[in-house]
Amino acid sequence: MNIRSPRIEHHDWHEVKAMAEASMVVLIPAATMEQHGPHLPCDVDNLIVQYLCDETAKRRPELCTVAPLIPFGFNEHNMGFPGCIGIGPHTLIELYADIAESFTRMGFRKILFLNGHGSNPTFLTIASRMVVNKTEAHVGTVNHWDLISDVIAAHRESVYPGGCAHAGELETSLYLHICPERVRMELAVKENQPRWAEQFWVDLQGGGPVAMCDDWSRINQSGVEGDPLTASAEKGKIWAEATIERLTKFLDEYRARKILPRRNFNHVPEDPKQEK
Ligand SMILES: [Zn+2]
Repeated sequence: MNIRSPRIEHHDWHEVKAMAEASMVVLIPAATMEQHGPHLPCDVDNLIVQYLCDETAKRRPELCTVAPLIPFGFNEHNMGFPGCIGIGPHTLIELYADIAESFTRMGFRKILFLNGHGSNPTFLTIASRMVVNKTEAHVGTVNHWDLISDVIAAHRESVYPGGCAHAGELETSLYLHICPERVRMELAVKENQPRWAEQFWVDLQGGGPVAMCDDWSRINQSGVEGDPLTASAEKGKIWAEATIERLTKFLDEYRARKILPRRNFNHVPEDPKQEK
């Protein structure tokens, strides 16, 4: 098989067929265009997942191939700031499911969304389950930060909880590692969302048990939720490399996992139309 690029769309249909025949995993980067404070461009989430997927596939070209980025996500809570594109929840679920299902129709049986936007997981989870129920494929979803919460904890300098949320230490460090020329650290400001209840906090290392997302224009001034002042390219490299390593290990295990036939343990009543 001739794998000339980590991205599936750079190949012709014969090559795509060969990738499916070789049981390669399809990695689908999913994120959003969304404001990320004054120091970062609006493509943070897209840039990070695209980079992580491309690097993973470049290093293990026989293991996985990268689908086109889904650059729009759920953003209603953030529309009070310029720079955000928001897709409605039903449209988004259908979009994710249709894309994953398209790969199943090509013959792929292992599909994984790599998500980079904190408001997408609910919809990605529903879409993934819809396609698992409807087809013979396995479809899963993972947020890149959830792969390395212990590595985030080991290297972070910002306060937990709060410093590694939106446009904070983690995302700014990753952007500094991937594309430093587009980061304007001189404009970075710290704005942590206060932990206003014992059971509620927001942080990419791990959030509190209560899920509730307020409209950000009510609670935020800068567009930052976190502490980008503690960010560095060095930490970005450590976190990116750890994510790629763990993602690759999972993809190996995912590809090896057998998909078993469905069984029906229900009582099956006799069909009255059938003659005895
Ligand atoms: Zn982000």
